[in-house]
Amino acid sequence: MELKDKVIVITGGGRGLGRSMALELAGHGAKLALADLNAEDLDVTVGLCMEKGVEARGYIANVADEASVEKLFDDVVADFGTLHGLVNNAGITRDGLFIKVKDGKVVKKMSMDQWNLVMDVNLTGTFLCGREAAIKMIETGSQGCIVNISSVSRSGNMGQTNYTATKAGVQAMAVTWAKELARYGVRAASIAPGYIGTEMVLSMKPEALEKIAAGIPAKRLGTPEEIAKTVTFILENDYVNGRCIEVDGALRI
Ligand code: NAD
Repeated sequence: MELKDKVIVITGGGRGLGRSMALELAGHGAKLALADLNAEDLDVTVGLCMEKGVEARGYIANVADEASVEKLFDDVVADFGTLHGLVNNAGITRDGLFIKVKDGKVVKKMSMDQWNLVMDVNLTGTFLCGREAAIKMIETGSQGCIVNISSVSRSGNMGQTNYTATKAGVQAMAVTWAKELARYGVRAASIAPGYIGTEMVLSMKPEALEKIAAGIPAKRLGTPEEIAKTVTFILENDYVNGRCIEVDGALRI
């Protein structure tokens, strides 16, 4: 896919990796439809994309809500006429141990709220946006591509029962969609970033961050731009389908 003038939706496009992806794709001449809960962040990212001379619009949408997602994709196609790409990037963490032994007693640590919130945004959100995007791509005959943002944590990580389950799930969904949608000329793939320097990660304690960086063979966090370039690679390369690209400085948990 040649990215110039292609219409790409990025969820969680207001800040962090989503913003970096938007700027990278704008640099290739793509038209951006950015969805997020945060209007202020969206305004900033839309403005930065427009400075690059491309059309960009912000949409307030909650990926975990079916009606909100349906409206988002209806609005995008009404505004841009078609849809060529979706990056399922919106995601949250609510970390905590699964159980803990306290004063000789085993107690529950991860609450149903922690579990459900992360499931709703990361897993259900990816499902809802992927389903809506596939419908629009097939209806408009755009031969599009869906990229799910997974994580190095998808193979399991301390304190992230909820998050790891969702990140394994979004990778598996991309494989399923690649198999189901190939007949319509629609592709799907995923990216598993390692630790990347965004608000999500930089909000950790400095001591914890230092320890993490020391454990990465590359000895540093990744940059949002390194993930954004991988999105471009997947969107541009029509023979990439169903695979998960690991961008993690050789970190394996
Ligand atoms: P971030 O917290 O900086 O940005 C996430 C964005 O998603 C925010 O703008 C937020 O408002 C938006 N969002 C949250 N819930 C939403 C909802 N219900 N509907 C719409 N938008 C919503 O996070 P980030 O570091 O940029 O991470 C982006 C993605 O990359 C996430 O899926 C995350 O799990 C994944 N990831 C990040 C890292 C990392 O090291 N930063 C590593 C691996 C994977």
